[in-house]
Amino acid sequence: MTTETLTNWARNITYTAKELHRPHSVDALRALVAGSERVRVLGSGHSFNEIAEPGPEGVLLSLTALPPTIEVDPAARTVRVGGGVRYAELARAVHAHGLALHNMASLPHISVAGSVATGTHGSGDGNGSLAAAVREVELITADGSTLTLARGDARFGGAVTSLGALGVVTALTLDLEPAFEVSQQVFGRLPLAGLDFAAVSASAYSVSLFTRWLDSGFDQAWVKRRTDRAATDFPWAAPATEAMHPVPGMPAENCTRQFGEPGPWHERLPHFRAEFTPSSGDELQSEYLLPRSYAAESLHALAGIREAVAPVLQICEVRTVAADEQWLSPSHGRDTVALHFTWVADTAAVLPVVGRVEAALAPFGARPHWGKVFTVPAAELRGLYPRLGDFRALADELDPVGKFRNAFVRNVLDV
Ligand SMILES: Cc1cc2nc3c(=O)[nH]c(=O)nc-3n(C[C@H](O)[C@H](O)[C@H](O)COP(=O)(O)OP(=O)(O)OC[C@H]3O[C@@H](n4cnc5c(N)ncnc54)[C@H](O)[C@@H]3O)c2cc1C
Repeated sequence: MTTETLTNWARNITYTAKELHRPHSVDALRALVAGSERVRVLGSGHSFNEIAEPGPEGVLLSLTALPPTIEVDPAARTVRVGGGVRYAELARAVHAHGLALHNMASLPHISVAGSVATGTHGSGDGNGSLAAAVREVELITADGSTLTLARGDARFGGAVTSLGALGVVTALTLDLEPAFEVSQQVFGRLPLAGLDFAAVSASAYSVSLFTRWLDSGFDQAWVKRRTDRAATDFPWAAPATEAMHPVPGMPAENCTRQFGEPGPWHERLPHFRAEFTPSSGDELQSEYLLPRSYAAESLHALAGIREAVAPVLQICEVRTVAADEQWLSPSHGRDTVALHFTWVADTAAVLPVVGRVEAALAPFGARPHWGKVFTVPAAELRGLYPRLGDFRALADELDPVGKFRNAFVRNVLDV
């Protein structure tokens, strides 16, 4: 047990938990859960809000001292991964077996369990969020017992993107596919006027557009093509002539290889290299996920407030996500366009602009990313999730005393 001062990666949240425990075995973890009144699990701490914060009376559990289970089953094309493992280690192990995950987020340093708990995603019209790959969840629930929920179970829709409210995820089993190669190419200037967003986002396995909203257009397009699929042209912009970082002025050597050089899926799908250790970030992030059919309209709405946005923005990234089935997934039930903002690290300056962005995107039914900064009132959030009642019932069933509920979760669930 330690009582060290602990912050998230971005250092905008200081966890006030009375204790932090790093159990070395699942049995020790089980005993801690059974013997505590209020518990939250800390993943890799890459969220930007109080989603992981248990409050001053609560206990924070880190799973980093548990054995880092990664069990690949090549015949079944699955991997069982422990609750504290990060994508970087998982991806290397999976690739060593000639297998692949369907997608990755921009950074491989985030924990698998924490990522799928918040609906974390990469990009690609046909690629569901990272939670979409999960076929089985192993949980320690409030009384310390173990529960496994698998795809096909009536309760599985709440089990993966669970905001950490159902219990401690000790392991996840994920779908794999044969390893594939990706070539990544960065393109320059892409005006918003006349942009055929559907054609651009459909032009490769994964496409990300970047803008600083200094004008109404995109500065960069990152195009990730699978080499085992027919290549489509990207006629809308010129290829970059030097290696690029999404944020102008930042070192491109931290980024995954560009110029169309084919490489393994896990060294191309994230924007940032696993070997590069990011320091604590001088940034805040927000993101809003809305039906993809509103892509052009929502981008024009943002262009309309770009003079408010640009002064506190480091970079805005636009991605796509395929619909998934998780009840609390921000991409639940709708093919999605995701509008991401990396802000300067100044909460007071950023929050009013977050409010402007939310007002501009509200008409499109925008759902905020659970792990990022947002100010959308809980009553509005609840209206955006048709299966919220089912999730609340599941949380009540598995955690009748509310052991895993912090202020963030109580607010969302209205309990
Ligand atoms: C630099 C950076 C890049 C990012 N890129 C992307 C991106 O490309 N796409 C995207 O969608 N998001 C992105 N994010 C957001 C990030 O993926 C999410 O915030 C994600 O939840 C982080 O995982 P974590 O383990 O750090 O979670 P934490 O912040 O540690 O926890 C998040 C939630 O998961 C719960 N949790 C964690 N582990 C467990 C467990 N074992 N059992 C039960 N509950 C658990 C916590 O209690 C908490 O509720 C990025 C964030 C950063 C800082």
